[in-house]
This record gives sequence, structure tokens and C-alpha cells, in this order.
Amino acid sequence: MNTLYASIDLGGTNISAALAGGDGRILAEAKQPTQSHEGPLAVLERIAGMINALAAKSGARPAALGMGVPGLVDLANGVTKFLPNLPTHWRDVPVRATLEPKIGCPVFLLNDARAATLGELEFGRGRDSRTMILFTLGTGIGGGVVVDRQLRLGPLGAAGELGHQTILPDGPPCGCGSRGCLETLISGPAISAEGVRLLLNGNAPKLHEICEGNIAKVSPATMGAAARAGDANVATALQRAAEWLGIGTANLVTALHPDLIVLAGGVAELGDLLINPMRETIQRRVRMIPTHDLRIERSVLGDKAGLMGGIALAHRGGLKPS
Ligand SMILES: [Zn+2]
Repeated sequence: MNTLYASIDLGGTNISAALAGGDGRILAEAKQPTQSHEGPLAVLERIAGMINALAAKSGARPAALGMGVPGLVDLANGVTKFLPNLPTHWRDVPVRATLEPKIGCPVFLLNDARAATLGELEFGRGRDSRTMILFTLGTGIGGGVVVDRQLRLGPLGAAGELGHQTILPDGPPCGCGSRGCLETLISGPAISAEGVRLLLNGNAPKLHEICEGNIAKVSPATMGAAARAGDANVATALQRAAEWLGIGTANLVTALHPDLIVLAGGVAELGDLLINPMRETIQRRVRMIPTHDLRIERSVLGDKAGLMGGIALAHRGGLKPS
């Protein structure tokens, strides 16, 4: 029987778990609410229960667990340092030392956006790429950087915080403490806020119709539908967001000369509305190196990218901080 690996994608809302072979073929999967208000120990107990249930179901123990977590981790020791979206922020939670005796195999941690990058590198768009940038475009903006097929981590595993590069020097304040970060301009909530403004001031009749006047329904997806249905102001707002993402990407293209940009997360569902203005912006701003053959593509793994990255992480026996 082939060696099995386990993966966990820990999110603020849900925990996803999978068992798979080293080739990425998933044998069993599970999903449960995180219920993070119960605290780290209860969440880790739930994770151990999910892994053990999957192992019992498939009749084999995993050789290792790779786990993506939403924040900063001490890779060498398997300890979480700061998970901003979870209660208590999980400061200095010894995840590896807690989980290993409960599931009986080595545990390796990685930031979730870096895990998604590793998943896309091994099993998705990145299989035939050498130097790749991945953006996770959601409530926040995360990322990962691959150079010469190596996921780059830096001393803290924090390399790749692409959402916190400055785009507007005097722009809106950001959760990271700076201002005008890419995240403040093109996150799902940032794009939706502009949609709400346009809906309420009467400049987005199609968006009003699609959302039935309910601002809670304004999202990048409904704004994309409104733009395609002819709402010029919504189309302009999305174009501007895509150009900001293009500026951030152009900076990275100039610095790293990637052959592939992968867009993951809910905002990436805008597709061409995002990718076409991004491509034009990159061509306008990157003049030092050729960009005509730069691939800009949506993730093929979708919301499974992080989970697949966990399998790759377990299969590799963890990653060393650089
Ligand atoms: Zn920031």
C-alpha cells in the first residue's frame, strides 16, 4: 500500500482535513466548523479527532501531517506565533507537541497562503513553472513566492506577505499598522465597500437590481455580474482595483521575473475583469524585461489549494526556514 499523508487547512470558520497519497490523490476528506471561541486546545482536539476518524475510515495511518494556519508560525518548533483572526491570537501555542502524541505522526506547520502556493506548485498551475507568484485574494490578501521551484520562506516563514506592499502612500490605514497597502484597496471587503457606495448613491442600477437593493449582497461576484450587465461605474471600480493589483504585481515582476502569476481566493472569480487590466498595467509598467509570455491564471485547485499544500508539506517532511 502507498504511504498516506494527512493535511489540515485551519480557517477562522472551518477546518478542512484530507488523507492523500504523495501523488496528491485524495482518499478521504472531512470538514467541520472551527468553533475557535472554544480556544486552541479544543480546536486541536477537534483536529486530532478528524485525522483519527479519516485514518480509521481508510484503514491506514498517515506518515505525517502538513497543516496550514492563518498567520505567523515558528516553523522549526511547530508553534503558532500570531493568528490574527482567531480568538486569543494563538500566541505560542505548541501545536506540534500537542498534536503529535494524539495522532501518532510528525506534524509540520506552514502559513496558509504559503501552503496554497506549495499546493499550486506541486499539484496545480505551477507544475511547469520555475518562478511563480501566488496571491490569495479574499477578506485579506496573502501570498507566496517560488523562485527556481523553491517556496521561499525567510527566517520566520513570513516571506510572501504580498498584500502589505504600499500602493498608495497616503491610502487607508491597514490592519498591519501601515497604510495604503494592496490589501486596503483590493480585498473582498475593500472592493465591496465601493460597490455599496455606488449602490446607495444611485450610480449602480444593475447592481441594485442584482442585489435587490440589499447592500449585504454586494460582493466582488455581484459587482462582476453588474459590470457585465452594463453598470459603467461598477466596471470602473473593478478596473481600478485590477490596476492596483497590476501595480503590485508589476513590482514583483520587476523584482523576481516570474513566469507565472496565480490568483486564488474569492476575488479571483472576477476572472477576465481582473486579469485583463492587470496584464495591461504590467505591460505598461514593466519595461526592463519582456512580459509578453508572462502567464496570469486563476488557481485550478480553488479552495483545495491549501489542503493540497498540506499534503505536499507532509510528503516533503516539512520545509526549513531559509
Ligand atoms: Zn498592510
